[in-house]
Amino acid sequence: MTYVIAAPCIADYSCIEVCPADCISPRPDDPDFDKAEQLYIDPRQCIDCNACMEACPVSAAFHEWDLPDKWNNYLTVNADYYERSLR
Ligand code: SF4
Ligand code: SF4
Repeated sequence: MTYVIAAPCIADYSCIEVCPADCISPRPDDPDFDKAEQLYIDPRQCIDCNACMEACPVSAAFHEWDLPDKWNNYLTVNADYYERSLR
């Protein structure tokens, strides 16, 4: 299981500051942070702690089971961000 960041994300990185698993990217010191449309959660590292959801000011982080239907594709969008970085 994992949490997922969806369309409302404004990339303010509040979630990065509270994530105990360091599984949200890009971080502010990453070269591509300024170009990021949103932040992404690594599904292989997330420990389902809920801290990102509680910290998010715009309700953009969801447990994958609670993703609204209109944003179901964000489960793949988040995972693909990390797949690309492994290539
Ligand atoms: S649920 Fe917890 S571990 Fe997973 S991304 Fe959110 S803060 Fe990080
Ligand atoms: S998911 Fe929420 S807390 Fe995290 S960067 Fe996006 S808007 Fe900020």
